[in-house]
Amino acid sequence: MNSQPKQLTLDQWQPRYDDLCRAGLQERFYGGPLQRHFKAGDRRLGRLRFDNSPAALGLWNLVLSEDDRLRLRQEHGSKIIGTMKDLGTTPIIAYAFDNLAAFYPDAAWWIPCFKQQQDGLFDLADRYGLDASFCPVRAMVGAFVNGRHFPLPDALVCGLGATCDDFAIAAARLESLGYDIFWWEMPHRRRPENDEPAVPLPNGQTAPHTQFAQVRNELKRLADHLETIAGQPLKQERLAAILQKTNRIRRCLQTLQSHVFTAPRCPLPALEMMLAEMLAIHFCSDPDETERVLTDLLAEVCRRLQNNMAVLPADAVRVYWVNPPADVAALNLLEQCGGRLCGADFMSPHALRPIDPCDAPFDGLAKAVLSDPMIGPARQRAETILHQIKTVGAEAVVLCRIPGASHCATEGLLIADFIRKHTDCPVVDIEIPTLIDPYEASLRTRLDALMETARIRRRQT
Ligand code: SF4
Repeated sequence: MNSQPKQLTLDQWQPRYDDLCRAGLQERFYGGPLQRHFKAGDRRLGRLRFDNSPAALGLWNLVLSEDDRLRLRQEHGSKIIGTMKDLGTTPIIAYAFDNLAAFYPDAAWWIPCFKQQQDGLFDLADRYGLDASFCPVRAMVGAFVNGRHFPLPDALVCGLGATCDDFAIAAARLESLGYDIFWWEMPHRRRPENDEPAVPLPNGQTAPHTQFAQVRNELKRLADHLETIAGQPLKQERLAAILQKTNRIRRCLQTLQSHVFTAPRCPLPALEMMLAEMLAIHFCSDPDETERVLTDLLAEVCRRLQNNMAVLPADAVRVYWVNPPADVAALNLLEQCGGRLCGADFMSPHALRPIDPCDAPFDGLAKAVLSDPMIGPARQRAETILHQIKTVGAEAVVLCRIPGASHCATEGLLIADFIRKHTDCPVVDIEIPTLIDPYEASLRTRLDALMETARIRRRQT
């Protein structure tokens, strides 16, 4: 079952899958060949390159089966909570109840990519007032209107306050369509005044104690609301158990990232690394399976490292990537141009850090919320990214802009300028549309030029 690491097309995966089955592949209840997702409408899979390991197969199957698994849970009596915007915190509270399952409708962001825009979600969003001047998150409104993707949630909660304009407008549009939303306040994180009581955050920054106390109260109010929906009290032992599981998941992901990003030769492709990171945000609606999938991926990476196996050439350029690409195929393109991922800020680093077990649960959760890079000054995000670029020894940086995204409008420029000012690492600032196909030639040229510049710099140092 073990073999040389390789990236396969969807068609190449089928014989590999058949071989694995003959060799006794054990799959979970959501397992099966990747082809079935393509046949069900995820046409973008036909354009991607996948890692050939059984562990990566499990990862893809977990991600692509989420809607079906949520529907199954709803049929079996669980309430489905659509948690919006905070990325990584609300789901922990929801999973402390045995009859709630949480997911992010925000992830509809990627539906038009996976469906190769055959889903009509952007047109539908446009009809409801969110045109192409908005970021791809507008697809979420279309997905609620046509009800053909995720199951319609039993309740919706949304972080409000330091939320970007695009998301605030999309969520408000949902409310205007009759969806009842529980709003909770995520304040814009500010630097504490000189003599102001402050709280240290897991990201190394600090927040005023008043903001910390406010978020903690908001999360308790949110927990009270979830108690009402669940029809049961929040049990402290269940909250402690899910926090422990969350930390196991996040530590496993951190180890995976550290092994992959620092290995002399890259043992796992960028696309699978990004999906692995997405699992930590809300456990892909199943914390147990998320832990299992990440453990399998880590074991596969360890096996490859022990056997000096790699999936990319040894001279691949070490690239730090900023923001998730609207078209996931862009990460394949990076590798085809000679790059490899050595670090990334996909806008959710606060969801990847373990919650401090020494903190009371709601204290730790409030600190996690306040660590969100997207609710603080762009300058702080730039400083963190620069620190990581230096720590991981990146040779080049891709600053990926998202079409229409209000958060990218000035932030991208600021981050790019900041990196250029403080390092001689080459930076490219590119917009990745929902489908890169019509722009592939020009994107390839820019990425090729970035790799060439990085290689020249490598020879000179
Ligand atoms: S990608 Fe940017 S603009 Fe779009 S919802 Fe996320 S933070 Fe907002």
